[in-house]
Amino acid sequence: KGRNGHEPEFIQAVQEVAETVIPYIAQHEIYNGKNILLRMVEPERLLSFRVAWVDDDGEIHVNRGYRIQMNSAIGPYKGGLRFHPTVNASILKFLAFEQVFKNSLTTLPMGGGKGGSDFDPKGKSDDEVMRFCHSFMTELCRHIGPNTDVPAGDIGVGAREIGFLFGMYKKIKNEFTGVLTGKGLSWGGSKIRPEATGYGTVYFAENMLKTRGESIEGKTVVISGSGNVAQYAAEKVLQLGGKVVTLSDSGGYIHDKDGINEEKLEWVMDLKNNRRGRISEYVDKYSSATYHEGKTPWEVPCDIALPCATQNELDGDGAKALIKNGCICVAEGANMPSMPDAIHAFHENKILFAPGKASNAGGVATSGLEMSQNSLRISWTREEVDDRLKGIMEDIHDSCIEYGKEDDGYCNYVKGANIAGFVKVADAMLAQGVI
Ligand code: NDP
Repeated sequence: KGRNGHEPEFIQAVQEVAETVIPYIAQHEIYNGKNILLRMVEPERLLSFRVAWVDDDGEIHVNRGYRIQMNSAIGPYKGGLRFHPTVNASILKFLAFEQVFKNSLTTLPMGGGKGGSDFDPKGKSDDEVMRFCHSFMTELCRHIGPNTDVPAGDIGVGAREIGFLFGMYKKIKNEFTGVLTGKGLSWGGSKIRPEATGYGTVYFAENMLKTRGESIEGKTVVISGSGNVAQYAAEKVLQLGGKVVTLSDSGGYIHDKDGINEEKLEWVMDLKNNRRGRISEYVDKYSSATYHEGKTPWEVPCDIALPCATQNELDGDGAKALIKNGCICVAEGANMPSMPDAIHAFHENKILFAPGKASNAGGVATSGLEMSQNSLRISWTREEVDDRLKGIMEDIHDSCIEYGKEDDGYCNYVKGANIAGFVKVADAMLAQGVI
């Protein structure tokens, strides 16, 4: 643990990778004795900076901004920005570390990074969010660029924030480039990017189910979160004929026994994206639903679970409840939502379990496609991007099977994703020497 002993989330993420990658390194002469993992866990650069801004009442606030440039062996740093009061170096380092493996899995040339701030957008006016984003970018702009580091959204950073950030970057640099992804369609964004993480997670689940002759059609699905990833995961489940029965936010979860259909989901999207309300308001609108304050939805019987809110939201008890109620497939839309004891329970019970770095990679993959479109100065159709996304999710699934299939035929997707992601980055690092 050494110099990272005070960073629990980072250590958790590294431990999960080390458990599967260290035995692989030991069996492969080319990686042996090169301290390759030791080099991978140290960020190439860790930036921290002051973000001062003025609220609507004229009061001055100070937040801390970060950018972790983790690994650029296979391409420019790429990874989202998170605005949430819990943001600290440990959380961003865990996310940046995961991002390196995830980006490698996408087959696209992207290194790994992550950033953000402990700024809380909740309850802030649009003007306050704009002033914060502008101030944040006045510092970040000197560290990023279309060939250096290309940030995107994450928790608390959606289309509105990306717009403000892009505007300030463009003003300072006096150039219109693909320096951020998740942009609006009329100014360089890619079709399907808002949908990509949620859609990709469901495509991945569909690939896993196929290995057992199953599909999403007719299945009951429990989803946590109600932000970007959760909303589009729900939309794709509905399109594929599944029934979504829960959504949540940090206050609790709603359970709609009749299912959250297209019309109800549209209402949720308006609630969350435009009115910025709480999921508890759902029960005032739809009497078929109940609200469970302070709880996570894993106690609700289902066939498939898609954790799409945040890290460590699914503990061992949650996993046991899912397994007891007959859940056969868990695909992570969020980053590291399952705690180690939950993952252990899924593996022990031969549940189809996909770690976020594999199943939620569709978001960054489509960001990669946005970068390509920006460089070419063209815009692909919705169908074209969706087809590429589907193909990438299938390729990631194949890579997981290649490296994760065990003797009894069960696929350990955690092992598969970690090793497949590792190999490409490690090979590039070896080729580039000790730097
Ligand atoms: P959003 O900000 O759009 O939504 C986040 C959702 O999670 C909200 O419903 C939020 O509820 C809930 N949430 C956040 N923190 C907590 C918490 N501590 N406890 C319980 N619920 C919480 O973010 P995204 O949908 O973009 O991100 C969700 C997850 O997916 C994150 O782990 C992110 O890293 C991951 N991810 C996102 C990608 C993307 O393209 N957006 C790509 C790959 C991964 P509330 O409103 O109450 O805070």
